[in-house]
Order: sequence, then C-alpha cells, then structure tokens
Amino acid sequence: MNPSDPQAADALAAAMQERDLSGRLALIEAEIPGRLVFTTSLGLEDQALTHALALRKGRTEIVTLDTGRLFPETYDVWAETEAAYGIRIRAYAPERAAEEDFVAREGINGFRHAVAARQECCGFRKVEPLGRALAGARGWLTGLRAGQSANRAATPLASFDAERGLIKLNPLADWSREDVERFVRDNYVPYNALHDRGFPSIGCAPCTRAVRVGEPERAGRWWWEQEAKKECGLHVGRPEAAVQPGREAAAFEPQTARELEMAR
Ligand code: SF4
Repeated sequence: MNPSDPQAADALAAAMQERDLSGRLALIEAEIPGRLVFTTSLGLEDQALTHALALRKGRTEIVTLDTGRLFPETYDVWAETEAAYGIRIRAYAPERAAEEDFVAREGINGFRHAVAARQECCGFRKVEPLGRALAGARGWLTGLRAGQSANRAATPLASFDAERGLIKLNPLADWSREDVERFVRDNYVPYNALHDRGFPSIGCAPCTRAVRVGEPERAGRWWWEQEAKKECGLHVGRPEAAVQPGREAAAFEPQTARELEMAR
C-alpha cells in the first residue's frame, strides 16, 4: 500500500477491525513499507502493545520520550520490560539548551504558572523529541484508546496524518480499559506499580496525580487545567513543526475545525 494515500489508511482500518491484536500488528507490518515506530509511555496500554510487538519480533521500533521528569516507578518498569523481553526501548530526550533556558526563566516547576508555560514544557520535553523519533517514519503506532477521554473518543484504528505524511495506527482504539487489564493480567505483562495506587494514566511525576473513584481516566493529568486543554501536544495536529524557541505554545493552537470544536 501507499502510506501517502489517505484512502489506504481507511482501508487498513477496515481490515484491522476484523483481526485480533497480533493480527493487526502483522497486517500493519505487511501493508506499510518503510519505517514503523511505536512510541510508548510505558503505561498499561503501551505495555500491552510492547508485549505483542516483542513476542512478534517484527520490524516495528519501540521508542519512548524520556522527559527527565518521569516517576521512579516508570523507569523501573522500563528496565523491567527490557529485561523481560530482551529488548531495548530507545529513548529520545529533550534538547539540553531548551531545558536549561526554560528552567532558568520559569523555574524548575514553572509549568504550573500558566497553560502557555505548561505547553512550552511539554513542547521541548515531548513534542520536539517526538519529531525526531518519527523522522522518516511511514507508520506511527500508539496505545491510544477511544475510551480514555472525551478528547480521544473518535480515535480510529488507522488514519492518514497529512501533516506528518504517515499513517497513525492505534491498534487498541476499540479496546476498553477492562480489555487492557485482562490482556496484561493473562499474559503476565510487566506494568507500572502506580497503576495499583490509583493512577490509570501516568505521565510526568509533577503533572500526574491519582484519580478519585468515579473520575475519568485522565482526570489526574494536569488537573489544574480545563479539560479541553489537557493534551500534551503529541496527538493534535503537527505541533512539533511549530515548536520554535519563544513560541512553543503556538504548537498547541487548534489547527483543524474538529480541534477548534474540541477546544471550546
Ligand atoms: S507533563 Fe509536565 S513536566 Fe512533563 S513535559 Fe508536560 S508540563 Fe513538563
């Protein structure tokens, strides 16, 4: 298939619908030529995908964005996963100059001062490294699920990402939280110890708290912000292209009619 053909992504999504997880991954590797990259945050969904990819021993690269502010438990499960499967998860780190400039200007936890400062921090710690991780890729695999939040409710199994010029693949898009938990339990997949302490969604340590009973899965992420702004920029538009010194927040401005609607 031609990964630059928007209709090819729709056809792939339809074909994925009929398959289980390993069948979906096999289909992706068979159909998309060129570099395939899976970006893991080492959360529960991503651990399920890492398990399936590691057993498959295919050609999809497994990478992570090491923001430098992750929980100790996240580094623990990262090391445990590499040891369990005999794999290496390649890390992409922030550019040193951007980090040093931000901390000098805003303070070590300056992302709490304003949404723009938080977006700037996510910009140089996550979005810019993502751009390097995906350079030259034709397919980008994620652990996104439609049920994770209102912002992600329309997550498809596969879609054409025109800005990045690749197909974005979400093989767990139609799984429930219970599906993921069952898969991890049945397959003895290593997982972050924080999941057992009320953290369904785990990001950077200073920006993630446990959720209370009845709260949405991502309520513990950037809890001091409004719901519509609570994405780190990895899954909206093509923010890494707009991450430039001094205007990182612009990368988070809605770019499509749908994003504009969601941001209201
Ligand atoms: S989640 Fe918090 S610490 Fe991590 S990159 Fe975003 S603002 Fe910075």
